[in-house]
Amino acid sequence: MNPKKALRLEADALARKCADLQWLGTCAVCGRTGTEVHHLISRATMATRYEPENLMLLCAGCHQHSSELSAHRTPARFREWLMLKHCDTLVWVDEHKHDTVTATIPWYQEQIKRLKATLARLERT
Ligand SMILES: [Zn+2]
Repeated sequence: MNPKKALRLEADALARKCADLQWLGTCAVCGRTGTEVHHLISRATMATRYEPENLMLLCAGCHQHSSELSAHRTPARFREWLMLKHCDTLVWVDEHKHDTVTATIPWYQEQIKRLKATLARLERT
């Protein structure tokens, strides 16, 4: 496997664990079991892909499928919900949505180091 891809997969797995702990395993919208990690700023935006503020644990319905409120199916309504329930996070999203970075191997290594530190902190609380 190409080394960058291996690092990306490792960082993605660590980010997933962080989101699980941050959101206590529950969907941020409905409180059911959270099974999917939603990136408030698209995960294609590498600069924010591993920022804890950018990760939200959701159930499949609230992430992809619900026609009432879901991050991907009703994005405008999801944004309104975010403004009401997590206003600070929405402010953060708007401040960072145009951030850019070149994802080099050292950058991935730094992200992994940072995610491991975040995980260790979350596991202590
Ligand atoms: Zn849900």
